[in-house]
Amino acid sequence: MNFPFFPPHKERNLLLFMTFEELGLDEVILRAVSELGFESPTPIQAAAIPVMLQTDDDILGLAQTGTGKTAAFGLPLLHHLMQAPFIYEGVRTTRALVLAPTRELCMQITKDLKLYGKYSKLKVVAVYGGEDIRRQLSQLDVTPEIIVATPGRLIDLVRRGKVMLSNIEYLVLDEADEMLNMGFKDDLETILKETPAERRTLLFSATMPKEISAIAHNYMRSARELQIGERNAGTENVDHIYYVCKAEHRYDVLKRIVDLNPDIYGIVFCRTKADCQVVSEKLIKDGYNADALHGDLTQVARDNVMQRFRLGAVQLLVATDVAARGLDVHNLTHVINYQLPDDPEVYTHRSGRTGRAGKRGISVSIVHIREVRRINELERLLKRTFKRERIPSGLDVCRKQLFNQIVRLQSVDTAMLDEDATAAANGLKEAMSMLDYMPKEELIKRFVALEFNRFLAYYKDAADLNVETKTAKNSSDKSAHGKPSGRGKKVRMKINVGTSDGINTRSFLALVNDTTRDRSITIGDIEVQKNYTFFDLFLDQKQKVVNAFKIYEDLFVVEAKGMKPRENSDSDNYSGKRRKGDNDSYSGRGKGGANGHSDKPWRKGRR
Ligand code: AMP
Repeated sequence: MNFPFFPPHKERNLLLFMTFEELGLDEVILRAVSELGFESPTPIQAAAIPVMLQTDDDILGLAQTGTGKTAAFGLPLLHHLMQAPFIYEGVRTTRALVLAPTRELCMQITKDLKLYGKYSKLKVVAVYGGEDIRRQLSQLDVTPEIIVATPGRLIDLVRRGKVMLSNIEYLVLDEADEMLNMGFKDDLETILKETPAERRTLLFSATMPKEISAIAHNYMRSARELQIGERNAGTENVDHIYYVCKAEHRYDVLKRIVDLNPDIYGIVFCRTKADCQVVSEKLIKDGYNADALHGDLTQVARDNVMQRFRLGAVQLLVATDVAARGLDVHNLTHVINYQLPDDPEVYTHRSGRTGRAGKRGISVSIVHIREVRRINELERLLKRTFKRERIPSGLDVCRKQLFNQIVRLQSVDTAMLDEDATAAANGLKEAMSMLDYMPKEELIKRFVALEFNRFLAYYKDAADLNVETKTAKNSSDKSAHGKPSGRGKKVRMKINVGTSDGINTRSFLALVNDTTRDRSITIGDIEVQKNYTFFDLFLDQKQKVVNAFKIYEDLFVVEAKGMKPRENSDSDNYSGKRRKGDNDSYSGRGKGGANGHSDKPWRKGRR
């Protein structure tokens, strides 16, 4: 098995030319690693293991979960513990301590260490809060060489005299920034002070806030800084996008995002437990495959939700930051910030949950106008561009859903029907005879209606939820619906029909609408002459109109050479959208032909 992602910079060479054998790890560890199918070290492993094996330096590692961090510290740790005797002055003793912010991470690290140390006879025990302490006490009856713990529970056990810190040789602080975020600062300091000063300390963190630098400065010796990926940067593989809406439309926008991405697998982050509960209940009621994860649930309920989410049985997990901390899922397509977090580092953590394992991920933020400023702050801090997207219209969503349904139909596997001849033959035959009379068009229509009606009914009169902002930089507002923003240059155009063909302003617009079938086309300042009609057009729409008219043999739309567009305001323009007071004759769209010109000569000449 190859590690799924490719490091972007110089570590790549290390990765390509280095094997686990070359790193000098103990034979027993190499065997376990090889059984796990690890072929070559990941960048953080290639960087950290030599430092651990060949020097006495401490390590300050900037690396996210999913980079192979556990083996980066775990393999050399096991190696060292195996090289020296198990028994410390004749007594078994705990020699390594790994601290992690959550129970789930403790369990994960313990599981990994047990796998890596499968042939080592070293004992690893996990102790964490939120579980009856008695079971953990009995696990400590035989002193383990390695303890993996949450800080609070560890201190509890130290106070009870069940764990001794005086012989700790290796102290690993994993996800140190998370531990600080969770309020473990004092506990960490206590542990750092109570473990021997000559211990080796390895600190891993996804971000490097001031408090972490302070810990490194105060408690670490000649720390080697290993940085995999950019400092404080959102992961390379994540696209950051945002939608601007009114605060009261947040939920509707969320639904549109989900509807536009039928295969979404993501976490929706809310700020409070109450918001989490409300949003997840609404989603479930509206027919989505969602569930909530927050601190008001019992541990059993939380485990259950996480497990179903990991397995993909839940598509959308609505979670608070704290509750989602222990969740380690690698293939999320989206992270949705239903509300932005106060702390930019929390944003980094959230968005770093997608775009892992070599895949691209999307971090979406739903913001209201006053929050756009905070997006700009995040852009500065992460040194990444956040792209503003238009909130999809009802029509966009319907189109996408229909497209998805067709793709599913095209790719469905019918092999089972062919294989299971009897059962299939019966069922298939029956279905064929029942539907035999139905023409193909009708069949398609019904198939579409089957799933599509729900969306059509909901989105039929769906409002435009976009909020226009003056400062909307990076806007990708070029939707085919409504007016494009930042209208550009206009050109004066000419077409070879006029009053002699029975054309007037309205029937001309009907002709344009019928021909282009594009509601965003904006026509300005129409002047109908005897044989020609002149009009203004935005330059970026010129080609679209010219191309659309190519269906007629004898109609030509060209730029009126030497004529300047008349600089009208928008209000004098006509777009495909029907406006109040307009009568039917000017919108021939969707009625099977353009009103008012169906007997005109160019109708005969369609190419
Ligand atoms: P971690 O960042 O420690 O949570 O590791 C992420 C995942 O990568 C885990 O599932 C590990 O089992 C896997 N992994 C770690 N190191 C390697 C490696 N060198 N090659 C392949 N997979 C690895």
